[in-house]
Amino acid sequence: MAKTRPPKKILESYTIKGSDKVIKPGDCVLMRSVDTSKPPYVARIESIEAAGSRGTNVRVRVRWYYRPEESMGGRRPFHGSKEVFLSDHYDVQSADTIEGKCNVHSFRSYTKLDSVNAEDYFCRFEYKSASGSFVPDRIAVFCKCEMPYNPDDLMIQCEECSDWFHPSCIGMTIKEAKKREHFFCQSCTTEGHGKTAENSHEATAQSEEKPVESKRRRR
Ligand SMILES: [Zn+2]
Ligand SMILES: [Zn+2]
Repeated sequence: MAKTRPPKKILESYTIKGSDKVIKPGDCVLMRSVDTSKPPYVARIESIEAAGSRGTNVRVRVRWYYRPEESMGGRRPFHGSKEVFLSDHYDVQSADTIEGKCNVHSFRSYTKLDSVNAEDYFCRFEYKSASGSFVPDRIAVFCKCEMPYNPDDLMIQCEECSDWFHPSCIGMTIKEAKKREHFFCQSCTTEGHGKTAENSHEATAQSEEKPVESKRRRR
């Protein structure tokens, strides 16, 4: 005998259990992993619905963010500790698994945060879960080591060529790099004039771009 399903009710918001935090479609959340030793999953809420007749049994349709560890290529040296990839993997989950809200920033706004809190993440790639490929598939690389920028690592900028360098790649300590007022890389010869080198995290337009995939085997 066919069961009659109660009609689904689309909800505009949902209050996370045990908290006063309200989530809406478009918000990013942390969801409990079945394996409690693992960090929570990061997801974007697409829609919220109640399957129960009285607005109970709330389910959320989510689009998963993958952590670098969850991608086919795994975590690579340039991946930030708070980096996630927006995947093409959708799911419907019980709203009970939502632990809390989080913020997934763009790369640029993440690097401009005054302080990074536990709930701050950033995303600069979309990830195709079936093929393991990334969009964009090219990324700017910096330094002698030709690595994409990892916002967790301090870099120092050459005033002449505007390339960015890891202190360790140019035989400098982080302390020295922070103190340094002017910096010219090895390939840029004599002293320039003018502006002070900044330890800002901003990427420059002059940077070279490399395919994301070919970096996989570099160690
Ligand atoms: Zn380097
Ligand atoms: Zn230079």
